[in-house]
Amino acid sequence: MLIPAAGSGVRLGAHLPKTLIDLAGRPMFVRAADSLVRHPLCIETVIAAPAGFEEYYLEAAGKAWADYDVRVVTGGRTRQESVTFALRSLQQDSDAILIHDAARPFITPDVIERVLAALMAGDTAALPGLPVTDTLKRVATDSRLVDSTVDRHDLMAVQTPQGLRRDAAQTAFDRATRDGLDGTDDVWLIEHYRLGSIRVVDGAPRNFKITTPEDLARARELLAYDTH
Ligand code: C5P
Repeated sequence: MLIPAAGSGVRLGAHLPKTLIDLAGRPMFVRAADSLVRHPLCIETVIAAPAGFEEYYLEAAGKAWADYDVRVVTGGRTRQESVTFALRSLQQDSDAILIHDAARPFITPDVIERVLAALMAGDTAALPGLPVTDTLKRVATDSRLVDSTVDRHDLMAVQTPQGLRRDAAQTAFDRATRDGLDGTDDVWLIEHYRLGSIRVVDGAPRNFKITTPEDLARARELLAYDTH
């Protein structure tokens, strides 16, 4: 399992890396990775940490998962580069890998099971998603004048964990490095190189990504609610 955690958190205005931020007593990345690290099918986990902060991640990982195979590598300049470095450092033989954003601390076991079930049923990749509920407009980026309304019936907003067959992941990330391609999610490369079927399974609204200060406030509210 791979946990890209090397984002800077610029949009959050934080002074330390976003995924180290404390959420009710545990760093965000520990909350995000915990149910994956402890999953019975998970044989190893690699966390991509921001350069210069590796020690902090290692220490927190040691505290949280002393009995599990969890390693920390230095992340890259982009999410995809971080995932590439983590992928290269895997040591065990496995049929599939799951890649989960360290900025999604509310992942639930049912979402993980749905992603795994799609892979076991033969899909090359699987990821959670939710129908888009807002109306979408295509606009001119500078003036923001509306050009058209986008038909949303076949659109989904996707989340992580993204599951990929190991051989397809290896091929996709190697080719992307060679071709200089960089995307914002993992299965995009499977699409781009047409390496097999990709299935969207039901995601969960709770599995949102913490990006803005408002997201962080929502996370803290949820945790306060959960513990009372
Ligand atoms: O920036 P954003 O929140 O979209 O990033 C998604 C995930 O990718 C986060 O968990 C973040 O820490 C990670 N990331 C990374 N390396 C980067 C940029 C982002 O591991 N260079």
